[in-house]
Amino acid sequence: MAIIIGFPRIGENRELKRALESYWAQKISEQDLLNVAQELRSAHWEHQKDLEFVCVNDFSFYDNMLDLSLSLGAIPERFKGLAGLELYFAMARGAKGIPALEMTKWFNTNYHYVVPELALQTPYLVNAEYIHKQYKEAKAKGFNIKISLIGIFTYLALSRFVDNASFEEHFQAIKKPYLELVAQIAAFEQNPQQITIQFDEPIFVRGEHKEFYNKIKDFYDEIKAIGINVFVSCYFEEAKEALELLAQSKIDGIALDFVYGSTKGIQCLKSTSKRLFAGVVDGRNIWATPLQQRLELLKDIQKILPQTNISVSSSCSLLHVPYTKAKEQKFPEDVSKKICFAYEKIEEIKLLEAKFKNQCTTAQESQWDNQYTYSQNTQSPTQHKQYPIRRKETYRERILMQHSIFKLPLLPTTTIGSFPQTTELRNLRRDFKKGIIDTETYKDGIKAYIRDCIALQEKIGLDVLVHGEPERNDMVEYFGEQLEGFAFSQNGWVQSYGSRCVKPPIIHNNVSRKGTMTVEWILYAQSQTDKIVKGMLTGPVTILNWSFVRDDISRKEVCTQIALAIADEINDLQNAGVKIIQVDEAAFKEGYPLRKEKVAEYEQWATQCFRIATAVAKPEVQIHTHMCYSQFNDIMESIQSLDADVISIECARSGNNLLKAFKEYNYIHEIGPGVYDIHSPQIPTTENIKKQIRAFLEVLPKEQLWINPDCGLKTRKNEEVHPSLTHMIEAVKQIRQEL
Ligand code: GLN
Ligand code: ZN
Repeated sequence: MAIIIGFPRIGENRELKRALESYWAQKISEQDLLNVAQELRSAHWEHQKDLEFVCVNDFSFYDNMLDLSLSLGAIPERFKGLAGLELYFAMARGAKGIPALEMTKWFNTNYHYVVPELALQTPYLVNAEYIHKQYKEAKAKGFNIKISLIGIFTYLALSRFVDNASFEEHFQAIKKPYLELVAQIAAFEQNPQQITIQFDEPIFVRGEHKEFYNKIKDFYDEIKAIGINVFVSCYFEEAKEALELLAQSKIDGIALDFVYGSTKGIQCLKSTSKRLFAGVVDGRNIWATPLQQRLELLKDIQKILPQTNISVSSSCSLLHVPYTKAKEQKFPEDVSKKICFAYEKIEEIKLLEAKFKNQCTTAQESQWDNQYTYSQNTQSPTQHKQYPIRRKETYRERILMQHSIFKLPLLPTTTIGSFPQTTELRNLRRDFKKGIIDTETYKDGIKAYIRDCIALQEKIGLDVLVHGEPERNDMVEYFGEQLEGFAFSQNGWVQSYGSRCVKPPIIHNNVSRKGTMTVEWILYAQSQTDKIVKGMLTGPVTILNWSFVRDDISRKEVCTQIALAIADEINDLQNAGVKIIQVDEAAFKEGYPLRKEKVAEYEQWATQCFRIATAVAKPEVQIHTHMCYSQFNDIMESIQSLDADVISIECARSGNNLLKAFKEYNYIHEIGPGVYDIHSPQIPTTENIKKQIRAFLEVLPKEQLWINPDCGLKTRKNEEVHPSLTHMIEAVKQIRQEL
């Protein structure tokens, strides 16, 4: 029978988000929160009841990696004395001066997990109670159960070793407690054969971490020896290397991703009796499955393995897609029929399984006959407009022209774009969207914000000003809403981390620009000052990486279409006299493929798209870009090939280490390393900022540096931004005198 790898948990109407936030605000009790969780789990299992199993322990109050840390008792020293949910949320979010664990992206999704902190002395107090509770709930309802557990290799590879001990040492330290946890789960039933665990091992698809490959078979044999049913799931790519090892082990089944990976290599399962869960329905994108095509794929697999061993599955957990399109009312009909969220995907999975095994009910037969088929003629008419794909003048030539026009002081100061978003501002945008206020009132409100923002920056003494982005609710959504080819769901929320959800734009058709998107606001801002105001755009790669993207043409093609639309906007901005334009690529790094051999291709088209978007700029127009991370070592070549005149980066938390990568690479373009951390409410002192600038000057020549905060200011309060920027300017003034 068919399965899924996992289900979302935030709730069809984000019930878990609301409950968590009310609990944190002490508006509901712990029992209230537990009740909401229990109701959600049962509702989710109801939707899975016709599958072979319902998923247990895929639910989480915050994150599954964190759950496993707690089940294993991998709790860092600093949380000593805390227990229960208080401990759990302290690890997730920090508490009373105790910093939280770090959080980082789960593979190449937009989901973030809580990074375990392990030391060899970690006492590891194993406790399967929380899993048992969920197990009993599902069992009481009579469901057939599959327990989700993150596999030991994935857990370890994604952990932070605080003691710098080796992987080998940590593996030896954690192995026993991990096996103990599995043994405790096995003991949920008198007969362990009644227990099924799915071990999630997406780390296997990276093909890296060679140090553990020789352990995979033995470890899973030990797990199997406990007597339970063992499945291992590998997703987001193909698991080539690990697949052979798993095939040799004694486990019962393997789940593979045939949407993002291929069926190559499954021959090794032939001489085994293992079950294969064929991930043929995309668990992380939202399009209706091309059923006929996937049926053919299943039949191809059947040429290698007996049909009875093959089951249809989602490619990965459905955590990465919204709940249902049933309540969406605003999709145009042609868009709506192309879309499938989690509930609809479960229907597809059941249908494919039934068709594959010739077990369709009459209803399913007609469902099959009425399936939506991709019209294969949705070709992309990227009319390659006559835009250059590379700027004609070299950086040296351009920067000289720019300097002679701008006449900026040494160490020019600027910000990354957004200024604090106030409640009034959010209400203004919301009221306008709802039609409560008219366009004129809305525009007056935005203009008032821009006037204040410009006046503030002049008063503080910044050199290059911004309009503050008051008209933007989100840096991708704002552009998506104004471009052809995008659609927006009303309730298509996907968990990003903890209680935070995002509603990614949906790119369903060819992208093009309907009209100018930012010119009016930038010009208004410029009309309020004699200083230079930067135009502010989101880059093509970031728009792509933060959206659900159509999959009937390549990502490269979609990205090129977006790039051409951005080029249109840059052209209009420069023709209107805008001298500096920033093209944010906050998510450039997020799109990197998981497997090394695919990286070069991504880099090639992603950097090309950025260049297509920006090469339209005249040499005297300065192109800035901004990226919010602090790991550049392995992407320096791409940074260079973007050919931006100035790049601003996050740096405030890593001293000048980050800059060294630029220096070593001999990067000559200008750089604005963040001089203070905007993610913290702390107001940096002038002295601290001076220290930071001096550290930068140790690495790079003064002529190459800009001075700015490390990201946009929209999440900060005015009371924080004002003194912080004042200190920044004061620091720069003092440093300039020393130079
Ligand atoms: N220009 C954007 C802002 O300032 C950049 C945001 C980001 O990098 N995430 O808000
Ligand atoms: Zn940023």
